[in-house]
Amino acid sequence: MVDTQYIFDNPVTRYPKVSPPPEEVPEPGSDADLRPPADHGEASYVGTNRLVGRKAIVTGGDSGIGAAVAIAFAREGADVAIVYTPEEEEDAQHVADQIRDAGRKVLTLPGDLVDPAFCTDVIARAVEDFGGVDILVNNAGKQVFCKDIAELPDDQFDRTMKTNIYAMFHLTKAAVPHMPPGSTIINTTSVQAYLPSDVLVDYATTKAAINAFTKAIAAQLAPRGIRANAVAPGPIWTPLQPSMGQPPKKLPDFGSQTALGRAGQPAELAPAYVFLASPESSYVVGATLAVTGGMPTP
Ligand code: NAD
Ligand code: MG
Repeated sequence: MVDTQYIFDNPVTRYPKVSPPPEEVPEPGSDADLRPPADHGEASYVGTNRLVGRKAIVTGGDSGIGAAVAIAFAREGADVAIVYTPEEEEDAQHVADQIRDAGRKVLTLPGDLVDPAFCTDVIARAVEDFGGVDILVNNAGKQVFCKDIAELPDDQFDRTMKTNIYAMFHLTKAAVPHMPPGSTIINTTSVQAYLPSDVLVDYATTKAAINAFTKAIAAQLAPRGIRANAVAPGPIWTPLQPSMGQPPKKLPDFGSQTALGRAGQPAELAPAYVFLASPESSYVVGATLAVTGGMPTP
């Protein structure tokens, strides 16, 4: 039975505005502790067999956008491997339960994506467990604000580059030899690629790089039948934001600058990834799909 109320929901009021307190928690943050809690589609996402038999890897699949994507992929019929840091085991187990409840196989892969050997191992383990890989979602990300370049630590700059750009490179390089025609790669970029914040110099730089990488690799892989695309979220309520992703004083108004006047929820991102992963987007190559609540993108 289709819920018509849901279909005709007003996007302005579909979710309430979030107004989190101006606090700062340590990285990587936790969905279990996030207040207000975020929606990953646990109660709402209905699959329609769009990814039956597919074998997916979602980095950062423990929480936030990656969690919503992992849940949606499983409900669409895919087996899903999620990658996250060892501190995030509680969030990862919640998502793993959702994947199992959808009747699909799950593989939980804790580790540090800054280590190229771990990236290679992620692909090898997914191939071994699932018998292949045909969807790669490079979604893990590091975002830590810094107000003055004189105080931006060298090792933060390095780890932001390595988490957001290098890991995408190492994972893609290791995955492609296993990917049959029809496979899809989806990279999470950001509205920050186009409207960079003054306090996110390192992070915004990586997001522009992700867009360029996506277009170049898409052109290279398209003749082999492998499509690469990106999704550019606007301000989405996830553990990334209160764990030093934003100056604390900005949190109470998080997302209010969008045309919809509110932050997005992870559940509102998942359909974009499902679309780009599935054959229905077969002529979409090297694109960046903006899910920004109306924040303008080129
Ligand atoms: P999130 O904190 O829930 O997800 C990020 C995940 O990245 C973490 O859960 C963690 O598991 C993973 N990660 C980070 N460093 C890692 C490492 N070294 N090794 C392994 N895993 C690591 O937050 P999110 O907002 O859902 O972020 C997902 C993606 O969306 C990121 O690429 C982020 O840049 C992007 N994004 C978020 C927003 C937003 O407003 N939340 C906006 C635009 C883009
Ligand atoms: Mg997390």
